[in-house]
Amino acid sequence: MEVNPVRSNQSKIDAEMSKTFRTSNGVNEIIHILKNPSKNDIELITRAFEFARQAHKDQKRFSNEPYFIHPFETAKTLSHLQLGAKMIAAGLLHDVYEDTGVTEKEIKKEFGEEIAFLIEGATKLGTLKYRGIERQIENLRKMFLAMAKDIRVVLIKLADRLHNMKTLQYVPKEKQIRIAKETLEIYAPLASRLGMGEIKGQLEDLAFPYVYPEKYKKVMEAIKGKYEEKEKKLSKVRHEIEKELKKNNIQPVKIDSRVKHIYSLFKKLQRPEVNMNINNVYDLIALRILVETVEECYKILGIIHTLWKPLPGRIKDYIAVSKPNGYQSIHTTIFATEGEITEIQIRTEKMHEEAEHGIAAHWAYTESGKPDEGGKFHPHLAWVNQLIEWQKSISQSKDFLETLRIDFFKDRVFCFTPKGDVIDLPEGATAIDFAYAVHTEIGNTAIGAMVNNKFVSLDSVLKNGDIVEIKTQKNKKPSMEWLGHTKTSFARKQIKSARRLLPD
Ligand code: MN
Repeated sequence: MEVNPVRSNQSKIDAEMSKTFRTSNGVNEIIHILKNPSKNDIELITRAFEFARQAHKDQKRFSNEPYFIHPFETAKTLSHLQLGAKMIAAGLLHDVYEDTGVTEKEIKKEFGEEIAFLIEGATKLGTLKYRGIERQIENLRKMFLAMAKDIRVVLIKLADRLHNMKTLQYVPKEKQIRIAKETLEIYAPLASRLGMGEIKGQLEDLAFPYVYPEKYKKVMEAIKGKYEEKEKKLSKVRHEIEKELKKNNIQPVKIDSRVKHIYSLFKKLQRPEVNMNINNVYDLIALRILVETVEECYKILGIIHTLWKPLPGRIKDYIAVSKPNGYQSIHTTIFATEGEITEIQIRTEKMHEEAEHGIAAHWAYTESGKPDEGGKFHPHLAWVNQLIEWQKSISQSKDFLETLRIDFFKDRVFCFTPKGDVIDLPEGATAIDFAYAVHTEIGNTAIGAMVNNKFVSLDSVLKNGDIVEIKTQKNKKPSMEWLGHTKTSFARKQIKSARRLLPD
């Protein structure tokens, strides 16, 4: 399902699709995507396919195509994610309540409670009457409420949005920008936070030309011919790596090149060190080496650094310390043959699958999208628990959005307690944020911090990988000045409430 942002031709693909689903044979296209579907799986998917095809038979999309192409494509995305027959059936049926006369009772009878619940969740997320910022916030709230019950509903919504973005050109102009903006501000970051890199990249690239048409044109202008040029140079580097790995008896699963998504390129161009110069972007195309084991990843890193010098400060070991959304890989940038600066990414096949499909990859193994009996998600999804807390406690819509912008969608840094527990913080967070993230009481009574065994002041900004120990003193209370040195809304809230509770 990899989409090359430069060369993809979506409308052509869509036209092909529209032929295949006119008869019930179209269901095979879904089933072929699945790894080892059972007889029951095939039966359920076929039944849902037929039901939805009939229900939508008199409806059309803005593109004038039969409406059913939309749930069909949504279900296909869910199939690529290997999310299981129930999710695929729910994807096929996700729009049946809209203008088709199908009732919930019917769905329950035909497909059972669980599928009915998933469809209902997805439908509720879709029927919002609000506009602008108010609408967006309402949307988010509903999204998180749905998440709190079952994250699978949000996955259906992401697949749904992906197809709507692919066909956005047919939607009335005045709606286009609103939908594209919402995609860029809400859905893409959400996909990113769920570790679903592939869908995130696609959503961003599809929204980009609608939200920033001028900037999009500029970027496209700047990259003209660049990909081809880079690809040519990379084939030499790749050849040398293959030779060297063979010498060392390492058989990689795959070496290929990963083309940077356009929107992510645009964001990189804006960084000060890149300064809008495309020649300063070293990972326009990166070489990606997939192997079977973690040991091989490190061995290959060693081999590559023996062949070519790495750029200082650009070796990133996300295997030892993964990104907050679970991303794992080794990245290094080298001065390759003829001085060509090139990024190389090394990871196992499993890590790759998880980087592309994120939370969905975990689902494929565990099946359940629900929290446990106490209403909590797996520690892996601790941030979802946090989100649910916020959405309960923050009553002002404006605050809620602010909180999200700061804590949820910002880039993250990872720090450690002396015992090695990971604390996930937004970029720019200080030792004060860290203290509160560990425990409110530790935050309130903090008097100093040791970062990597050195005493520092509490307002010190933390870096990825810092080991932080907070020094406390009984009966201390937080200083109001701290409010100027915190990045997390959680810390701010705790400081304010501690100050309110304690007399000066
Ligand atoms: Mn839909």
